[in-house]
Amino acid sequence: MTVKLPVAKLDDFFAALSAKTAVYLPSDNSAGQSEFRRWESGVKLSSRLNTTRSAKDFFFPQTEDIVDFNMKGKTIEVIDRRTESEDFVVFGARACDVASFAILDSVYLADPVDSFYKNRREHGVVVSLACARPDSTCFCPLFGIDATEPSGDVTGWIAGEDLYLKPNTEKGTDLVASLGAVASEAKDLSAVDRQKKETGEILARLPFAKRDMGKFGGEKLIELFNSPKWAGLSEACLGCGTCTFVCPTCQCYDIRDFDSGHGVKRFRCWDSCMYSDFTKMAHGNPRLTQVERFRQRFMHKLVYYPSNNGGKFGCVGCGRCLKSCPISMNIVKVMKALSEEK
Ligand code: SF4
Ligand code: SF4
Repeated sequence: MTVKLPVAKLDDFFAALSAKTAVYLPSDNSAGQSEFRRWESGVKLSSRLNTTRSAKDFFFPQTEDIVDFNMKGKTIEVIDRRTESEDFVVFGARACDVASFAILDSVYLADPVDSFYKNRREHGVVVSLACARPDSTCFCPLFGIDATEPSGDVTGWIAGEDLYLKPNTEKGTDLVASLGAVASEAKDLSAVDRQKKETGEILARLPFAKRDMGKFGGEKLIELFNSPKWAGLSEACLGCGTCTFVCPTCQCYDIRDFDSGHGVKRFRCWDSCMYSDFTKMAHGNPRLTQVERFRQRFMHKLVYYPSNNGGKFGCVGCGRCLKSCPISMNIVKVMKALSEEK
């Protein structure tokens, strides 16, 4: 059953949810960026389209402790740092970010299952929020993602003066049921339908949303791998890794040991295929030049991942890499250059 509540009463909604569980929502910070923050009185929902960092942080944080090895005289104490995650709600994830969870699931929930990730997925409830005004940098339709009807445990729309919530899963149904008198049944969904129609028209006009993706995918591996275009495309790349850190689907990490003074703390942290020491091993580095590293990032999303996942691409068209790269390089430029190759 779809329910609704007035946008003017959003604080009552967040307060009702927060009484039982931690609630995170996009909110503007002092730098004018939208970031996910835990709700407390005074935290307001951002009106911006997307958070600067993606929602993947909730399930795959930038750093996390794995295990401690503590010296105790002549013995070593091993402490497993896994803890049961607290229950939490992620409110306001856009369709692209929700789609990215399926990509992360295909990696981290495949055998061998990543128990850290699985634990957070089990404890998290995703309440998505449909986009009303997609940005000029968005291109989610290219990957079959409908920004007007995002998935998640609950799909949310802010249409007219109201927030509408439609549960999609058991977790979502429980969440909606827990709202009690804060929300009421939405018998008339015409405001939602109107907004979906208007947004659909904007989506159809997006500059980057139309591209022939037939050029990409598994069959094109050798042709694209050997393309002479990579040298020119990667020439100005700084190897800063910003594109990988804002990307909701990048999933590479490193495991490092830190001398704690009385033993070793082992932790994992995001890594970037754009870095010169990425996958460096005892024998050396398999990708010695930036052009090889640059190619790896885009081949992974456009060719390798689809080859192993039934043609599904490893990009969700969120546009974050379009906004954040200091040299204005991004996956759209790469797709365009490779598509135009004879
Ligand atoms: S490659 Fe760029 S557009 Fe695609 S999901 Fe990553 S940050 Fe978003
Ligand atoms: S953000 Fe731009 S400059 Fe930095 S590694 Fe990515 S493509 Fe290269």
